[in-house]
Amino acid sequence: MMKFSVVTIFPQIIKTNLEFGILGKAIQQGKIKVSTHDPRDYSKNQTKRVDDKPFGGGSGMVMEAEPIIKAVENAKKQSNNSHVIYLSPQGQLFNQEKAKELSNKSDIILISGRYEGIDQRVVDHIVDEEISIGDYVISGGEIASLILIDSISRQIEGVVGDFQSVEDDSLYDGLLKHPQYTRPEESEYGIVPKTLLSGNHKSIRSWKLRKSISNTLTKRPDLLEKANLDMEKKKILEEIKKDEEKT
Ligand code: SAM
Repeated sequence: MMKFSVVTIFPQIIKTNLEFGILGKAIQQGKIKVSTHDPRDYSKNQTKRVDDKPFGGGSGMVMEAEPIIKAVENAKKQSNNSHVIYLSPQGQLFNQEKAKELSNKSDIILISGRYEGIDQRVVDHIVDEEISIGDYVISGGEIASLILIDSISRQIEGVVGDFQSVEDDSLYDGLLKHPQYTRPEESEYGIVPKTLLSGNHKSIRSWKLRKSISNTLTKRPDLLEKANLDMEKKKILEEIKKDEEKT
């Protein structure tokens, strides 16, 4: 079972968001375990404050090192092989490949910052890596932690009922997924492509592959540069590019 421990002063953000859907079920079935550890429980302050003014001046407040480090140490007691991540806009950008890599860990501790962030000594002493969910700043690391928990958990066999659907997801193989349709076949909003209704598995597979590659070329050409395309996919990409040149 994979364990996540979230260090946060707002445990309810984590708990309430994990009650639903695939993750709620995975927790109920014991496939993943998520616990929260509140730095306020380790505050020496009577009012349970865990932030203070930054040395050297500057705006806002900084989270103190000791209560966070103590909360992490407490989380570590439940495991002997924890990987500690600080969610930070200064970290390496998170992506599907990283989610796959982290799904091989057995125990992940996620430090969620608030205010202006955390005392650097936490990062220097106990953080294994800093991860960012994107090049923008949000108000706290809880949502970022939830994003990691969700995407990493999906990579664990058994969390999503049919693992094939995870392998078919966008980005699993570096490409975006093909467009999808469901009933009705025809409506005032348009018709479903005939190939998908043909029952011909070979044609359907080839339609999906071609659409997946053309979707990626149109929406995220940067992904194609990094994708490790096999011969079949390379050939389709060349055909699509030639077709585009003609039009
Ligand atoms: N002053 C900090 C800085 O400039 O690096 C930003 C602090 S931010 C308002 C508060 C907390 O939100 C951070 O400590 C971090 O945990 C989280 N956070 C903000 N943006 C994030 C991002 N892009 N990825 C991951 N966590 C983020």
